[in-house]
Amino acid sequence: MQSDTKLPTPRAPLKSLDAALAELLAHATPLPGVESVSTFDVDGRVLAQDLTASLNVPAHDNSSMDGYALRCADWLDADTQLLVNQRIPAGSSGVALAANSAARIFTGAPIPQGADAVVMQEECTAFEAASGSMPMVCIQVQPKPGQWIRRRGEDVASGDVVLGRGARLTPASLGLAASIGFASLSVAPKVRVALFSTGDELVMPGDVAPGDMKPGAIYNSNRFFLRALLLRLGCSVTDMGIVPDRLDATITALQTASKAHDLILTSGGVSVGEEDHIKPAVQALGELNLWQIAIKPGKPFAYGKISAAHFIGLPGNPVSSFVTFLWLVRPFILKLQGASSVVPESIAHHAHFEWPRADKRREFLRVKQNAAGGLELFNNQSSGVLTSAVWGDGLVDNPPSQTIAHGDVVRYIPFASLMS
Ligand code: AMP
Ligand code: MG
Repeated sequence: MQSDTKLPTPRAPLKSLDAALAELLAHATPLPGVESVSTFDVDGRVLAQDLTASLNVPAHDNSSMDGYALRCADWLDADTQLLVNQRIPAGSSGVALAANSAARIFTGAPIPQGADAVVMQEECTAFEAASGSMPMVCIQVQPKPGQWIRRRGEDVASGDVVLGRGARLTPASLGLAASIGFASLSVAPKVRVALFSTGDELVMPGDVAPGDMKPGAIYNSNRFFLRALLLRLGCSVTDMGIVPDRLDATITALQTASKAHDLILTSGGVSVGEEDHIKPAVQALGELNLWQIAIKPGKPFAYGKISAAHFIGLPGNPVSSFVTFLWLVRPFILKLQGASSVVPESIAHHAHFEWPRADKRREFLRVKQNAAGGLELFNNQSSGVLTSAVWGDGLVDNPPSQTIAHGDVVRYIPFASLMS
């Protein structure tokens, strides 16, 4: 029998973080185009080409010590004396080694033809048989074939792809690219981000002195760390400042931001309160695809599109904003840049704390590694306590409804791998 009675629709369960991230990444089509940037200035950018080596590194077998290059077969006993008839500093090359002779050789210098080992200078005695005669060296310790020789191509072999398209460049990878001769690299274009904070309570530090703050006013902290996180990801940031808690002002700001930007990033105003205008404003101008996620901190979160620009609305609470940036915005931006790896791996670590009252949402706890090889918990996990993110050196990714006892193995992600 059918009833006309209208039952209240049960609240749909919040989207899981994994589902939200997958959905977000599905929207993040890598931006078209490439930029050629000097290898000096390319740290943190994403490679848009495979880097293939056209030489061996090292190019020649070379010495890893200051000492003497010789043939092991010439060594007879601890009194072995060899004529030193050539000197090979780094940057020059010697000649083929004659029998019963040694080459004075320095770190990085090519091994002369015929030599099969280097004896370090500390293990031999240089002398002159007679004044003005050719220098000699006495080799006290028996050399082993191959000792102190760095082999041609042992770092990079010609033809190797040393870094693939989609690799995120690090200081070490700049050195590696330079070692195979690249003075500039093709990288993904910068993601153009328009950033603004919402909230009538927000005041910029510098505008009002702490002693003159009106009741209810707070300094805008999100603006500072969001901008810094975006810059670390190599974005170009248009900082649009603070937008008041009004629908018309929010719509105007979003319209402006949607022009000439790939991503609009906002903080605050994304809940369901009367002062939260982000959701209706995005719906008025474009589409809202994602809203609210089952994580703590960070439940209010929105993704949508306004014209060609992506829109991401972060929560206002500073720690929520911080965590959702690291977990969702960072992978999204890396994917826009065509990065092949966008989500860092967590590591198994031991809790040196208790977490007896688990939340039904997946939680991200601010923790710090201690000298005993465990993780300690910051004493206040409130989403407004930014000190936790400064004190901590990473997050514990705790599954929904999971309590933690001292000594339990938990999943830990260092900030170092979430903030680079
Ligand atoms: P909202 O999401 O706008 O409801 O804000 C949630 C909480 O975060 C409120 O206590 C706000 O005052 C605070 N908040 C919002 N934006 C910022 C910001 N940019 N800096 C610091 N706190 C903020
Ligand atoms: Mg607000």
